[in-house]
Amino acid sequence: MSSELAGVGIVSGASPTIAIGRVHLLAPSELETRHYAIERKDVLHEVARLNNAFSLVRAEIDELATHVAPEAPGEVRAFLDLHRMILDDPLLCDEPRDLVRSRLINAEWALSIQLEAVCKQFEAIEDEYFRSRSQDVRQVVERVIRALVSGRSAAAILPPKPADGERLILVARDIAPTEMLRLKGRAEVDVAGFVTELGGRNSHTAILARSLGLPAVLGVANAREAVAEGDLVVLDAEAGRLRIQPDAAELARYRQRLRAQVESRLALRKLKSKLARTRDGIAVDLMANIEMPEDARDALEAGADGIGLFRTEFLFMNRDQLPDEDEQYEAYAKVARAMKGKPVVIRTLDIGADKVLTDKARRSLGITAGTPTVESNPALGLRAIRYCLAYPELFLTQLRAILRASSVGTVRILVPMLAHVHEVEQTLSFVARAREQLKERKTKYDARVPVGGMIEVPAAALSLPAFVQRLKFLSIGTNDLIQYTLAIDRADASVAHLYDHLHPAVLHLVARTIRVGSRARMPVAVCGEMAGEVDLAELLLGMGLRQFSMHPSQVLSVKERLYSLSTKTAAKFAARVLRSDDPLQIRKLIEKAVTRPAA
Ligand code: PEP
Ligand code: MG
Repeated sequence: MSSELAGVGIVSGASPTIAIGRVHLLAPSELETRHYAIERKDVLHEVARLNNAFSLVRAEIDELATHVAPEAPGEVRAFLDLHRMILDDPLLCDEPRDLVRSRLINAEWALSIQLEAVCKQFEAIEDEYFRSRSQDVRQVVERVIRALVSGRSAAAILPPKPADGERLILVARDIAPTEMLRLKGRAEVDVAGFVTELGGRNSHTAILARSLGLPAVLGVANAREAVAEGDLVVLDAEAGRLRIQPDAAELARYRQRLRAQVESRLALRKLKSKLARTRDGIAVDLMANIEMPEDARDALEAGADGIGLFRTEFLFMNRDQLPDEDEQYEAYAKVARAMKGKPVVIRTLDIGADKVLTDKARRSLGITAGTPTVESNPALGLRAIRYCLAYPELFLTQLRAILRASSVGTVRILVPMLAHVHEVEQTLSFVARAREQLKERKTKYDARVPVGGMIEVPAAALSLPAFVQRLKFLSIGTNDLIQYTLAIDRADASVAHLYDHLHPAVLHLVARTIRVGSRARMPVAVCGEMAGEVDLAELLLGMGLRQFSMHPSQVLSVKERLYSLSTKTAAKFAARVLRSDDPLQIRKLIEKAVTRPAA
């Protein structure tokens, strides 16, 4: 009988969203066990390893028992007795030996299979006390596994090679980032996707899944209990579902969908090294948005023309000690070097609103106890450039680090959330001061690093000439432009239905910014989510946009769409859309245009 589990689906745009394979249960990540098939001649060796490991742990527990102080609480001895009992249970010490012999698998693998089987039995017991003993079984087995793996190189920890033509879906409580990276080498060959009980959309596991191009479903409660080693499963990352033991008809449907996805993605990959241009030959820059230096690799893999937005605040979050100039320099230089001369637009710190520093980090900036931790309106509060101007040392340190990185690549500085001209002027004087400081220190940097501004507050979009005069380029942050134009907190789920990127007011501000910028011969990009929406490519192109910056996973799909578009038709289309003041009609026009055959 088939069944289904739900979680948070993680999709990497460049890879299929469906994975079909056999379950391989991974031991808890902290254990880092090796799972692999063995040859018959190695059976004795593996069995001996098991025996040794069990003996070692028995000795450990006995040793601990001799050191229990007479006055220690009774539970301590009871706990050790229980663990000793579990250790001697034939289900745990004999069964794995049989598994090694019958399935030709290594000791760790056999032990973890048996662990799951025994734990399932425990967890089926009604009595709460006995049910919770499964935790003790896990602890004992973890000790044995530790004894087995000690002294082994971590590099060898890989899942087993599945049967010919089959792929694996890894199911784990959690997968440590290091473990995931080691799996990467095998991703094409045999790991098709993974499911974890922990983690959400923004967890590191999710971020890594995207960068490995592996579909995943995270945060699936009790995933390991619901499946068994070797179960056939379908992972549907788009729907965030794991289908266990699907029936033949379902499986056939999924296989068909997967085939179609693989074919269209293969076709997309062929576009990677081709220049982005429209059907009428107009060149367009397709850049990537990144959050961490490591993401530059995804940008390169997607064939991006550069980094259009490096959201540096992610280097500052979730830590008590803020990165100093050198650490920041290393991060920025890493991206600049990786992009080999292609432009890298580094956005200055956009902290505030939903992206906050830890309390300890705030204190290190001298934020006093009197300052509220939770502002009543954080999206309208001390955020982005306002934050940087309020903490000059923080800002200057970052500017010096960015300027230094310009000595190893093509770097540009982008300032978020500008609303006032005086913010631009203050920023420019901070940049000048950072340059002076570097000069005094005789530190290398490129004196021509341009400073650009994000247009994401309506006030800036409506007073563009003053910004155009002082800045070298513009980048439209549609995510915030929508938030601030429509007065919708983008982090508030209760008003999410009102967050509409096709609201005529938003479209007019975007179009106006592109028009004013182009007339002044100033490069204008869109780096909000709208730039990565394939269905909006014609509208933005028609407004005159020639620089799009998006999540790396979207680059190839947008490129493919651009190949089918002509700038002339797009301009007429955009003019029609902009003439409408009815969001419903606008939506219909866009839907129609997407299905319109290339003219
Ligand atoms: C935006 O606001 O559109 C943008 C790109 O910046 P962020 O999403 O980081 O606020
Ligand atoms: Mg923004």
